[in-house]
Amino acid sequence: MSGWLAIAGMGPGAAQLITPEVTEALAEATDLIGYATYVARVPARADLSRHASDNREELDRARLALRLAAKGKRVVVVSSGDPGVFAMAAAVFEAVEAGDPSWRDLDIRVLPGISAMFAAAARIGAPLGHDFCAINLSNNLKPWDLIERRLRLAAQADFVIALYNPASKARPHQLGQAFELLRKLKAAETPVLFVRAAGTAEAEVVTTTLGAADPSRADMRTLVIVGASTTRQVGRWIYTPRSERGAPS
Ligand code: SAH
Repeated sequence: MSGWLAIAGMGPGAAQLITPEVTEALAEATDLIGYATYVARVPARADLSRHASDNREELDRARLALRLAAKGKRVVVVSSGDPGVFAMAAAVFEAVEAGDPSWRDLDIRVLPGISAMFAAAARIGAPLGHDFCAINLSNNLKPWDLIERRLRLAAQADFVIALYNPASKARPHQLGQAFELLRKLKAAETPVLFVRAAGTAEAEVVTTTLGAADPSRADMRTLVIVGASTTRQVGRWIYTPRSERGAPS
């Protein structure tokens, strides 16, 4: 039987938010690869080899997956949320680009998942209802200067901004620095949302404003959404209207 590699999104956490396509691939897999937390979400099976690893070893994980698929295994690489959003899919293609030329002909499929920003937005209304962008605040893979530049331009363009990886133990100050920069460019009353463990039973939402936002509220399981100038509250909901007719250009 010929091998394949599926790079699957496990969604934000709840079992109901895993797509049937991903469930099917997991049921057919011989090998499961990923960060230990996501591998642990897949029920054990006698005929399923599990290769759990540390979060930082993305390229090693990708190469292992490709080698196994080339040997005829049915491999699923799991990511949280969507595998194409700050996750394993790009790491696999980077490994393909730098690796054995025959890897380019492998049966590789990317199976989408519900990204944290969608689960977080759904929880509070429709904050991503109009143009938005997603920025990864971690400077593990890029310089902080570049992150600041993107934040500045996103604020100038009046995008709603979804901030992934807002904080970790190793990077406690970056979200505070990001808020400081955004406060110079956006109104203090701009809605800011902290959504922790979105799409799970432990989900928590804090609605605040840019002026009052406390960066220490965010941890590694938090997605932060900073509104555009049009983002507003109606009852307990936050939304960004779809029409910007009449807005200054
Ligand atoms: N591929 C993932 C993102 C991986 S980066 C996706 O599409 O969602 C990891 C970051 O995603 C975390 O630091 C956090 O900012 C965010 N995140 C992942 N799961 C989350 C959840 N259930 N609730 C809130 N944020 C989450």
